[in-house]
Amino acid sequence: MSDPRQPELFAQDIPPWEIDASHECPAASIVFAEPPYGPFHYRIPDSLTGSISAGMRVRVPLGKSNRPLVGYCIGVEIINTAPALLKEILEAIDPVPLCNGNVLKLIQWMSRYYIVPLGQVFEAVIPAGVRSSAGVRTRVMLYPGPKAIDAAQVERLSAKQKGVLEQLKLVGVGVTTEQLQKLANCSAGPIQSLRQAGFIEAKSERSMEEPELNRVPHQRPMPPALNVDQRQAMVAIQGAIDSGQHQTLLLHGVTGSGKTEVYMQAIDQTIAMRRQSIVLVPEISLTPQTRSRFQHRFGQVAVLHSHMSDVERHHQWRRIVEGDVSVVIGPRSAIFAPLPHLGLIILDEEHENSFKQDTIPRYHARDVAIHRAFLERIPLILGSATPSLETWHRATTGKYKLLSMPRRIHNRPMPQVHTVDLRMSSNDPHRGSISRPLEEAIQETLDGQGQTILLLNRRGFATTIQCPHCGFVVSCPECDLALTHHHDGSKAVCHYCDYTIPTPHSCPECKHADIRYSGTGTQKLEMEIKRRFPTAAVARMDSDTMRKPGSHERTLTEFRNGRIQILLGTQMIAKGLDFPNVLLVGVINADTALHFPDFRASEKTFQLVTQVAGRTGRGDRVGEVLVQTFSPEHPAIIAAAQHDYLAFASHELEARSKFGYPPFGSLARMIIRGPNAELTEAYAQGIVKTMQSLRLSIAEEVRILGPAPPPIGKLRGMYRFHVMLSAPDGAALNRLLTRIAAELKPPEGIQYVIDIDPVDML
Ligand code: ADP
Ligand code: ZN
Repeated sequence: MSDPRQPELFAQDIPPWEIDASHECPAASIVFAEPPYGPFHYRIPDSLTGSISAGMRVRVPLGKSNRPLVGYCIGVEIINTAPALLKEILEAIDPVPLCNGNVLKLIQWMSRYYIVPLGQVFEAVIPAGVRSSAGVRTRVMLYPGPKAIDAAQVERLSAKQKGVLEQLKLVGVGVTTEQLQKLANCSAGPIQSLRQAGFIEAKSERSMEEPELNRVPHQRPMPPALNVDQRQAMVAIQGAIDSGQHQTLLLHGVTGSGKTEVYMQAIDQTIAMRRQSIVLVPEISLTPQTRSRFQHRFGQVAVLHSHMSDVERHHQWRRIVEGDVSVVIGPRSAIFAPLPHLGLIILDEEHENSFKQDTIPRYHARDVAIHRAFLERIPLILGSATPSLETWHRATTGKYKLLSMPRRIHNRPMPQVHTVDLRMSSNDPHRGSISRPLEEAIQETLDGQGQTILLLNRRGFATTIQCPHCGFVVSCPECDLALTHHHDGSKAVCHYCDYTIPTPHSCPECKHADIRYSGTGTQKLEMEIKRRFPTAAVARMDSDTMRKPGSHERTLTEFRNGRIQILLGTQMIAKGLDFPNVLLVGVINADTALHFPDFRASEKTFQLVTQVAGRTGRGDRVGEVLVQTFSPEHPAIIAAAQHDYLAFASHELEARSKFGYPPFGSLARMIIRGPNAELTEAYAQGIVKTMQSLRLSIAEEVRILGPAPPPIGKLRGMYRFHVMLSAPDGAALNRLLTRIAAELKPPEGIQYVIDIDPVDML
């Protein structure tokens, strides 16, 4: 609601007997991405009648100073108020709405569910390149002028000039001077004189420059005949597509069971109904292989990814709006693609945490996808070999339809998984991070002309830099986290904020002339591997080696062609890769995520081990997996080794139900941060007090824990405190937090963040 000092107004309903026909006023409701967020009513001036509708941006005066500000229109109506009470819209910015009916409804739902002002949701949903009209330029276009139809006058022109005019009439559309020069094979001179004489007319026009697109030839290969499991899944999907109703289906298929093929045939069916599909994938599995698989199969594919320029993004958006695209494939934000006749949404690797955005509005693409599919009355297919427990619970209790594909294509066996107990081998200080069994397996694989993938989910060289004398750990002054030593350039880097210093050679604290590096990152692993296997071709793939655009693509191509024998890296190599010659997968340390202070630690470990194990045995030869761990008896590791998702899920669900964790309850997290620890904590305590008293009146079932310092107590120079809220259902949390958000006015410097359904507990 409007601040009383602001003359902006959101007109209230008046009693019917007060209605005054002379007070009919066409008005638009406008919201802003910054405070005051609105909505406010603005009068639509006569000059803009009919050219403003929901989903467009307008410029309006705001505040006492009437500074012009851009806002989003969320609706247009006739209200009954004295027109003089409302300020007038200054300008319409967009000629057409930036989003259509259902995306608009989705934005409204997100604003309520994630407790984020509407204007901020708009900014997250509509790409910056679209908002800035990236690539749209004003150009001078040439058309035949009034004299061009006067045959007698044209007759008097020179032969050269006649030729130019003839060409211009033939193309039938506006062209630039350069284009006309090419068409008529002439210099600028004759065009110039024709313009001056009125035979050619010039008009300034705004149009989009065409970015260079890498068009992949559409080869329409024959799709393979589906196997029995795939056919059964397809029957259910076909039923859902034909029903004209919303339904969520979970395609639970082991790695290599042919899920992607099922998606593609479902898309074929959707295209046959002249409708379009969205395929959401985690950014890291949007490999060139995945892209080309879809681009070869379907002609009109728009691939959205994070390396796109604003111009490319804007161009793709236009193609999508105009219905030129039948399949959109991209990471989480592709869920907002404005397809005019959406018929199907697919979300692959649905358990991936990268579907959750970690900045405002902190949405989870899976939940947004469910809501969009509901609004569009279409099916949503969630696919995974290791579904999230939230999804699994809903699929086994009948909320979603469960489709199972428990076998690999061609009945290929699942790889043999063996655990290597690191407690045994860690007695040998010269062993490094590769146990004897893993070393032997790599050698055997090399001898047999196979390829190896090694997973280590930590980049850098050494994960701790510590003084052996006084115990001082070199850490980030901004984040309270240990710095990682990077061998290249000998620097110590904070993996959260990128703070970088030259790695000290003596202790910064006690000046002891020695410093010790411990813990292994991918750089050190690479050195160890090269030392042990000096003749093997080794490549490392992590976010340090993959900075340059195209490097990801190059490394994978070399691996595919067999020029790399051992590929090692972070989770980047764990997902989605399909290389038939990978016969060995080694997990260097399965425990990296296991002991995190997070109730999803087991789940993340199970998923990562299962996913990376699935990279092997995809060809004719049987694959093997070696998992090095200090906890071989941990249920998550045992279940992953036995490819037993069901055992893992039932064990884990039992544990979750004891504590009321999702899926048996809902969580929300509030983070309060500020530059001064005491003031921030005091403010957080005040918030919790307000919450406690509100809880009694509107949401008794909510449990409030905190404030407490989270595992990362300081980040980017800000001290942090968090409050965890849980409740049997999300509605109570939403009620409480919506009230809190409306009341909080944090002092200068202190910020708070509400995270609904958090996946990150750090
Ligand atoms: P997933 O997505 O479950 O990991 P994919 O769809 O990538 O599995 O399939 C694994 C491999 O099997 C791919 O190379 C794919 O082309 C192939 N494949 C999938 N379905 C069939 C089928 N019905 N017949 C033959 N090959 C298939
Ligand atoms: Zn830092």
